[in-house]
Amino acid sequence: MTATTDHDTPLPGPPGARPATAITRACQHAARRWLPLTDTRSFDDARRGHVADLPKGAVTRANGGPVWNLAAYGFLAEEEAPDSVHPGLWRHARVNMVTGLFQVVDRVWQVRGLDIANMTIIEGDTGLIVIDPLISTEVAAAGMALYFEHRPTKPVVAMVYSHSHVDHFGGVRGVIDEADVRAGRVQVIAPAGFLEEAVSENLLAGNAMSRRALFQFGPLLPKGVRGQVDAGLGKTTSTGTVTLIAPTVVITQPVERHVIDGVECVFELTPGAEAPAELIIHHPGLRVLNMTEIASQNFHNLLPLRGAQARDALAWSRYLDGALQRYGAASDVLIAQHHWPVWGGADIDGFLRRQRDLYRYVHDQTLRLMNHGLLASEIAERLQLPQALLDDWACHGFYGTVKHNVKAIVQRYLGAYDGNPAHLDPLPPADAARKTLQYMGGADAVLQRAQADFDAGEYRWVAQVCAMVCHAGAPGDAPVQRAQALGADALEQLGYQAESATWRNAYLQAVMELRHGVPQLPPTSVAVRDIVRALPLGQFLDMLAMRLDGAKAAGLHLRLNWRITDTGDCALLNLEHSALTHRIGVQADDVDASVAMDRATLDDIALQKLSLADGLQGGRVQVQGRAQALVQLMSMLDQFSRMFPVVGPRP
Ligand SMILES: [Zn+2]
Repeated sequence: MTATTDHDTPLPGPPGARPATAITRACQHAARRWLPLTDTRSFDDARRGHVADLPKGAVTRANGGPVWNLAAYGFLAEEEAPDSVHPGLWRHARVNMVTGLFQVVDRVWQVRGLDIANMTIIEGDTGLIVIDPLISTEVAAAGMALYFEHRPTKPVVAMVYSHSHVDHFGGVRGVIDEADVRAGRVQVIAPAGFLEEAVSENLLAGNAMSRRALFQFGPLLPKGVRGQVDAGLGKTTSTGTVTLIAPTVVITQPVERHVIDGVECVFELTPGAEAPAELIIHHPGLRVLNMTEIASQNFHNLLPLRGAQARDALAWSRYLDGALQRYGAASDVLIAQHHWPVWGGADIDGFLRRQRDLYRYVHDQTLRLMNHGLLASEIAERLQLPQALLDDWACHGFYGTVKHNVKAIVQRYLGAYDGNPAHLDPLPPADAARKTLQYMGGADAVLQRAQADFDAGEYRWVAQVCAMVCHAGAPGDAPVQRAQALGADALEQLGYQAESATWRNAYLQAVMELRHGVPQLPPTSVAVRDIVRALPLGQFLDMLAMRLDGAKAAGLHLRLNWRITDTGDCALLNLEHSALTHRIGVQADDVDASVAMDRATLDDIALQKLSLADGLQGGRVQVQGRAQALVQLMSMLDQFSRMFPVVGPRP
């Protein structure tokens, strides 16, 4: 069942990677029969306007650390998909390799493939308007350098952040200087709510999300035909220096027309769909529509695998229709901040109509079946896209998937509880697994049957039941080790069969952790200085409160004044009933202690560069009253482990 092909054996992948089984090979062949593989227009659309390749070699940090390197994807030069990659994903991963500097139309340029997102550069009358500076400064600077190799050097006069996700603002200091912003030489334009969302989205859930993001994007997976091949929206994410400069111009009206350095820009807000704060841009004079991340060349996520609040598919579809209605006929090219353009009025019209109907169809059909009483998992199993959407590559789930998006829609409307009180208070996984194995005749009997099911290609069930054996046991138990091995084999085949890059990454990351253990990464703070700097005091205190171990605080009542000396911000903290609350702008007389520090000290504490104890000792933190109260509070705050276990035995 696991015979190798010559094609598969010598090619790169994670250590111990297995070849595709005969069943997986049959799946890939079946997919080839219905996929629109003869439609290769995406490659032409992606190549159109190509001016220069990306610089050869890697982009590195000042200290030589790696930031970006596409050389590891050389294996994608092969046209024919290997057995270990879904043929649809293989094609998409190859289009994402069409990279470099592109002239879209007169005055409009894009750098693609220097990060997961695109940088768009528009030539104004005297300077440049840059839309989205990628994730990190190193790649953003490399992108600008590439542009200047081919175009006259002009100052950047405006930076536009299309939305509040880090792949659309983190590289800003690689493009512009804050001094120029302060001097009024550069405007920084962003949608309403941008700064609040950029600093706060994912903050409280940050540790869990960053761990889960390793599964979604697969940055630790070796690249190769049995490893990471793509991330759906682009190849992968850059790993350089993340920065943020606060906006100076905020778009607050639903539609705002601005003329920036002679270029007409119509900004339209699209909040609550792909991001909480987002906009799209139409340039009427240039006849260019920039759909930022509201439209892309794949089905996007309503709920990323890293975890998030479920997004609004209905609003998303409406934004797409609004853009079609208002700007479709007034545009000759549609660009976005990921992927390649859509060229010409007829194609733009068809593309936007299909994108609109993709989100609408999945939304409405999910609600219809939900109202018939079907469960999320049942709808996910049943719902198929109409053929007319399946014929369009841009509707395929290279990033989000129909199945996961169905579950996101149910979650948004009904939540995680399925309504059956038998599931209202179920045993947690380890307890449920122990009882189930007992009923099934023990781990050995289960593993024997699971092996037979593996041989029959029932990989989904084998992965599930092996997880159960892992949950029921302890690390190192013989049945747990066998379940880890067999479970990894099953997840690997599921990864090979997945059309979605994010599903593939998730499966293969799990395989790597089951076979080789949880990778140990150096403990670094997830927080970034520029982002922490922009954090309001209240959110800093929310982060402290989220770390409070309730049991340790039992019976305690503490009150503290908290004051930032140089900004004048202050708050009154109250620990009571094991909950840490605060009131901004309030100070009280009858407190246990008054704590004062400057903002830089607060930032260093948030970045975990300074412990409060060291701050106290070194005098950067001043306390009046009972200093012990502050020490006591800090001693009750948890530290999180960055690489907590996700697969394998439960701790
Ligand atoms: Zn993005």
